[in-house]
Amino acid sequence: MQVAEKRSGTASGQRRAKPTGAKPHLATADDTGLLDALPIAAAIIDQAPDFSFNVLAHNSRFEAMVRQSSCTALDWNAADCLRSGRIADLLQNFFNGTNVAGELDFKDGDGVAARHFRVKLAPLPRARRGNVRCLLSVVDRTVEVQSERALRSEMLRDSLTGLPNRLGFSEAIETAGEMVSRDVEHAVLVVDVLRFSRINESVGSLAGDELLITFARRLILALRAGDVLARTGGNEFGVLVSLRRGIADALKAAERIQQVITAPFKISELEIRVECAIGLALMNSAQDPEELFRNAQFAVKQAKLAGKPQIYEPKQATEARRRFSIETELRRALDKDQLKLFYQPLIDLKSGEVAGFEALARWEHEDRGDISPAEFIPVAEESGLILQLGRWAMDKAAQTLAGWDLQHGEALPLYVGVNLSAIQVARDDIASVVSSALKASGLTGDRFSLELTESSIVQDPARATRVFDALKALDATVAMDDFGTGYSSLAYLQRLPIDVLKIDKSFVSGMMVDPDAVAIVRAVLSLADALGMSTTAEGIETVELATTLATLGCASGQGYYFAKPLEASAALDYWNSRRR
Ligand code: C2E
Ligand code: CA
Ligand code: CA
Repeated sequence: MQVAEKRSGTASGQRRAKPTGAKPHLATADDTGLLDALPIAAAIIDQAPDFSFNVLAHNSRFEAMVRQSSCTALDWNAADCLRSGRIADLLQNFFNGTNVAGELDFKDGDGVAARHFRVKLAPLPRARRGNVRCLLSVVDRTVEVQSERALRSEMLRDSLTGLPNRLGFSEAIETAGEMVSRDVEHAVLVVDVLRFSRINESVGSLAGDELLITFARRLILALRAGDVLARTGGNEFGVLVSLRRGIADALKAAERIQQVITAPFKISELEIRVECAIGLALMNSAQDPEELFRNAQFAVKQAKLAGKPQIYEPKQATEARRRFSIETELRRALDKDQLKLFYQPLIDLKSGEVAGFEALARWEHEDRGDISPAEFIPVAEESGLILQLGRWAMDKAAQTLAGWDLQHGEALPLYVGVNLSAIQVARDDIASVVSSALKASGLTGDRFSLELTESSIVQDPARATRVFDALKALDATVAMDDFGTGYSSLAYLQRLPIDVLKIDKSFVSGMMVDPDAVAIVRAVLSLADALGMSTTAEGIETVELATTLATLGCASGQGYYFAKPLEASAALDYWNSRRR
């Protein structure tokens, strides 16, 4: 063996040149003696002015190691060392001064026979001939690496089943995640053994362990080549499956799992039936393995409630789906006239009598129960259904009020407030909606207060002005709803024919705790006063609020303290009960 190499070329030049097999520089007896005293394989190397590396001296350990090694990386004459270039690069960087404490790990051979080495360079004082020198040492780290690996695989393994544990599973997911970019899809299934602690208690923990092992064996039967099974918790298993046909494959895997566990388990003379809940989560690119696993665990919770495997869906997707189905069902409900209009009393805060009612839409869904207008009105606005809903509300309110008049024998001293959405203002002919309701019911415009929001002005002030004027021409009252929450300018407030400011309930309910809220309410009241408008406070929930607002000069109010929105007949009863 020859442990010398002569490199030609420079760092940037012919780095991959073949070694020339030049004669080794003779080591001095001193150097070799010193090196022999070292407990590790070592050699002294310098770089000649022509940039070639020379092995000046080496110890017998170094020679023995090189001889033993199948690895050409240590054979300075063999092409591999230079072809891989890693030791050459290390030396080059060292002599360039870019990395004077260089170190390099490399592997010699493959599989179980692989040996692991670490090469280190350390500077030495210049030799007499003046070349810069370094000490190259090689440590055999094979034992260290092997025990590290053994420890690591121990760490990644569940000792009962021999399967990867939670940590090992995370690593498997991570590896699979790197394939996502290559269009291989994956899903994680979490399989939860139901009532396992009960089984464990009644058969004992040894039998419980046996059950888990048998359970794991059955799960393996449900898997396909390349799938990974792991025990991720006491009674929880994780399965990583690769998908060829998307979500259908993942559901098939869940189905196979359900199938393999249907037969009872025979554990110490007992026949035990085991059920499981399965949650699935699909992997998307660049996803954190932990997050994916948590998603699948979340789906398990839902699977327990649903009694069948559940796929995790991000919140937005679930919300979008709900909105979409609400839209479809709202359209149907409107067509079938399934919505109701409730009436919340508007109280004259001075006299305590009912001055009018606000009409509020109610939807009692056959399956879902009550759906709040706070949820379906925005959906109606987004889908355009609000035009139909708005006309319905106007017609219905007029019908109800006319019905009350009829019942009473004369026109009641009451008005009804009807909400008009900004979308209606922008897209519908509101004046004709109102006038046709008036015509159909035979009522006059002054029996209605139309509640518009600041947003209907902001979008198209010119159009809003026309609409407001048209409503005034019908003799209706115009109220600015949710006042203070939007961004209307004071100029429009002054210019538009607005009769009432409705102070939003967020300010009203804040009054008792927040001095700023009181200041805002005071400001709105004096603004209304200055502009010659009346005021209504929303959301009065206590007697204190009612009296405070009355003292501050607010004309009327509505809120749960007086009454919640009521059905038409109950609303009329309420009016009667408060008459003086
Ligand atoms: P809004 O016009 O501000 O209506 C007042 C809301 O406050 C109503 O909620 C009412 O039930 C609630 N409320 C009344 N008093 C109290 C109280 O003391 N405390 C609390 N916490 N809340 C009180 P609702 O009925 O859920 O309606 C929500 C919103 O849906 C309404 O807000 C309105 O913007 C819209 N909306 C309802 N019906 C219709 C409609 O027929 N057409 C249009 N365009 N919008 C409607
Ligand atoms: Ca309103
Ligand atoms: Ca309001």
